[in-house]
Amino acid sequence: MSRADRVAARLPGRELDLLLVTDLVNVRYLTGYTGTNGIAVVGARTRRFLTDFRYVEQAKAQVSGFDRETAPRELRLGLADGWPEGPLRVGFEDQHLPVRSLAALRETLPARIELVPAGGLVEEERARKEPGEIAAIRAAAALTDEIYEWVAERGVVGRTERALAIALEHEMRVRGAEPAFAAIVASGEHGAQPHAVPRDVPVAAGVLITLDMGARVDGYCSDCTRTWATGALSDELAALHATVVEAEQAGVAAVRPGPTGREVDAVARDVIEAAGYGERFGHGLGHGVGLEIHEAPRLAQTDEAPLAAGQVVTVEPGIYVPGLGGARVEDLVLVTDAGHEVLSAGTRAPRVVA
Ligand code: ZN
Ligand code: ZN
Repeated sequence: MSRADRVAARLPGRELDLLLVTDLVNVRYLTGYTGTNGIAVVGARTRRFLTDFRYVEQAKAQVSGFDRETAPRELRLGLADGWPEGPLRVGFEDQHLPVRSLAALRETLPARIELVPAGGLVEEERARKEPGEIAAIRAAAALTDEIYEWVAERGVVGRTERALAIALEHEMRVRGAEPAFAAIVASGEHGAQPHAVPRDVPVAAGVLITLDMGARVDGYCSDCTRTWATGALSDELAALHATVVEAEQAGVAAVRPGPTGREVDAVARDVIEAAGYGERFGHGLGHGVGLEIHEAPRLAQTDEAPLAAGQVVTVEPGIYVPGLGGARVEDLVLVTDAGHEVLSAGTRAPRVVA
């Protein structure tokens, strides 16, 4: 079954006749189209793809298995007709569609069409990766590992956080990928901010430095965090770092088909709570990664969905202590029938990089 077939097979369960796909990541997933203006319509016997004049040639090369249509730049105008007969329930992606666009759609579509919120249908399919998708993520993860080694060989002490972040992103582009998100480099007390913005401040010796980056290869992301010591650490920082590493390894070991996101989160969280840092780990354990850096599933205290083979998730516990510093360690893990495979190969054990 094609991806569109699998989405179409989900529609009766939601009492839908068709799904209107407006999120460009979902459009790409279903059709192969990577341009910036496109809509897909999927149903049991419907495969429509609409774009405007600027992308007709690109769509011809990328989109197969869909009827390609050229519409005005405001693509909804192309949806005024072309629908199957009779009253129809058409799902729309309410997690993405702006309120204004929904109102405009209602004006454009025939009155016999009822628009129904149906967000997440394509995302549920995206959560389980196909072999080709896993290969791209694996390549992105390997590249991230290589760049961490590259920067470790050159050293970090005395360079500014911002200079290091720029170097990481530049090297990624030189090696044929692009950054999946803006690299995080946070040293010393700044490491207490989980999503710290790199500063024009040189990295000191004897502190913790947290680097978080991802590469995008063939559209697919990697996501990996390393925390290094830049020299001999205080006992307090060394203990904090060791606790994060232990929690991360426990979390990775718990990844397999069956347990819920909440259960896997709890395995790592227990380690951090037992060490007395429970209050200082204020985010979820991990997230799915694919065409987007954050996608389904989630590993968090609120997540009751069981993990399934084919999903790719991060495991990334952290401890953040204002005024002291922080540490986070993140690996990319593929859920397999037998358990899991860690896609990021680099060492996550405490390590000195000066
Ligand atoms: Zn990350
Ligand atoms: Zn992450």
